[in-house]
Amino acid sequence: MSAEVLNGREIREEILKDIEDETARIAQEHGRVPGLVTVLVGNKPASRSYITNKVNTAKRVGFKEVQESLPETISEQELLSLIDRYNKDESIDGILVQLPLPEHIDETKVIYALDPDKDVDGFHPVNIGRLVLGGDQVKFTPCTPAGIQEMIKRAGVPTSGAEVVVVGRSNIVGKPIATLMMQKGEGGNATVTTVHTGTKDLAGHCRRADILIVAAGKPGLVQPEWIKPGACVIDVGVNRVGEKISKKTGKTVAILRGDIDYDAISEIAGFITPVPGGVGPMTITMLMRNTLNSLKYRLGLIRPGQQ
Ligand code: NAP
Repeated sequence: MSAEVLNGREIREEILKDIEDETARIAQEHGRVPGLVTVLVGNKPASRSYITNKVNTAKRVGFKEVQESLPETISEQELLSLIDRYNKDESIDGILVQLPLPEHIDETKVIYALDPDKDVDGFHPVNIGRLVLGGDQVKFTPCTPAGIQEMIKRAGVPTSGAEVVVVGRSNIVGKPIATLMMQKGEGGNATVTTVHTGTKDLAGHCRRADILIVAAGKPGLVQPEWIKPGACVIDVGVNRVGEKISKKTGKTVAILRGDIDYDAISEIAGFITPVPGGVGPMTITMLMRNTLNSLKYRLGLIRPGQQ
């Protein structure tokens, strides 16, 4: 058996096209486009590359995008004041602060300072609370979990009554995807188990999974013997395992691997996501969707729970 590969790049193109069309339509009918401000503190190459990607995608779909590139030495108070300014700016629907922040800035304080109604990353405790409450409370779902659920839905993998096992319990991936999959409704209603380093029989739990979502950050952790034949295996892990020279650009680029033994597992699973090109492209796509939804809430075009 050879698993169907869920191609995140293809799904991204379909969704971004829809977002672009809807943005143009809203601009025509309401004279307003979604506004996204990206905030980068310092100049870490990985953070800069993530931000560039977000900015380029926002431009591509026709959003108003504002870039704040701040020196590493900016004080916490200056950053909080900047966030306050964008919280009040009527032309801005989404504020994204690229993490991690330098050590002298308290990340929790910064996340709490965001207006929850502009928190398009979905990391503010109010939005986490809304997600747990579910249904018509949900405004912004964190982007990577939202992207994972979207891939599963589009693949037509049944989730209602399915055994879902999530490897990892981080606040940005493990906990929110476990919450999403257990919620009543389309793309959820699953029986969810979350496993972590305290779990006694990791392999045994994984073997029960109709849908296995792996977000551990450990290259090659999940072995082929752990996979139920025909299961849907979503590999969230992105691990830099070396470097190579890109044939396209001639530049040195990282060699990336996921958390699963991809080649062997693709012979057993029914569906599988590659790394790179699987979950990765979905994350920024969902950020764009959240930003568009933020404007749609503001204009009264949708209500929470309808995203
Ligand atoms: P994280 O905060 O480090 O959390 C990792 C989780 O995995 C923890 O809960 C940890 O358990 C668990 N874990 C680690 N090793 C394990 C093991 N041997 N057995 C069982 N559980 C284990 O990581 P994260 O932020 O969730 O990210 C996970 C991976 O996804 C990383 O590779 C990251 O780069 C990637 N990622 C990708 C995207 C994307 O857009 N594609 C987005 C976000 C993250 P404990 O809690 O017990 O320590």
